[in-house]
Amino acid sequence: MKKYSDLLKSERWLQKRKYILTRDGNKCTVCKSEYNLQVHHIFYYADKPNPWLYPNKCLITLCDNCHKDYHLKHEIEIKKKETKSAKRKKKKRDKAKLLKKYKPLSDIQAERELKVKARVKRFTI
Ligand SMILES: [Zn+2]
Ligand SMILES: [Zn+2]
Repeated sequence: MKKYSDLLKSERWLQKRKYILTRDGNKCTVCKSEYNLQVHHIFYYADKPNPWLYPNKCLITLCDNCHKDYHLKHEIEIKKKETKSAKRKKKKRDKAKLLKKYKPLSDIQAERELKVKARVKRFTI
């Protein structure tokens, strides 16, 4: 995997960055400074490392000082987006839980015994 600092050098990010700077009038959105501008991510997606894949509304222009200040005062939220397969798995899990809830106890015990047997089999082969 590429390093984050390498990603920030990519053409796609530089273009996005330029767009954000232009949108914010090439000024820090906090103190209006025009120097040492950086583009800050308001939040990060845990599963999206590429900085240019973020919607424009979660990117803001900050100068070096305000950026440092922001990071000192705020903890950056890392959003965990549920992927489709994760959602499906969760649904399955919930369903299994629900079924378990309404199963008579003996059934659950029988199932558990089967599982144990299967495990023993796997180890003895
Ligand atoms: Zn500033
Ligand atoms: Zn930042």
